[in-house]
Amino acid sequence: MTLILPVPDLKTLGAPVLREVARAVPPAEIPHLAPLIQNLLTVMSQEHGVGIAAPQIGRSLRVMVVASRPNLRYPDAPLMEPLVLINPELVQMDLGVVWGWEGCLSIPQQRGWVGRSPTVTVRFHQADGTLATQTFTDFVARIVQHEYDHLQGVLWVDRSIDRVSEAEYQRRQGSHAG
Ligand SMILES: [Zn+2]
Repeated sequence: MTLILPVPDLKTLGAPVLREVARAVPPAEIPHLAPLIQNLLTVMSQEHGVGIAAPQIGRSLRVMVVASRPNLRYPDAPLMEPLVLINPELVQMDLGVVWGWEGCLSIPQQRGWVGRSPTVTVRFHQADGTLATQTFTDFVARIVQHEYDHLQGVLWVDRSIDRVSEAEYQRRQGSHAG
């Protein structure tokens, strides 16, 4: 028997919620976010994402998840437990720019060439409500900036200077994976 859990729809390009500036979560409401966080983790896992933000499942709230893992372009990317960031604030960014192909669960089958800061420091509430400040680098910094953009109603299509199909991206990576 298969247990089918209700999973909210993944919102894709054109959904108005993806263009809204998401609402901050009042600290008193953080303990009530558990079902939303579980839904985010479920959808991210089902879609093989390395991050997700609440607007992508139709909730205009400042909640995002970062979950790096090694991949073709970033073989040294850390494999991390999903990190939940609530009301994140970018407190410092390296002025340098690193360019890379970026995908988004909400923009299936496309990749954009996007410049991101290589280092970003973020202050945020954790799922248990405590405040944390953490510095992220390289691929993880890219994920953090991508997910933070979602909370601002910004998508990679707004930043990219080039885009390719997923098939072309895979071809350029020289992937022979089945
Ligand atoms: Zn995205």
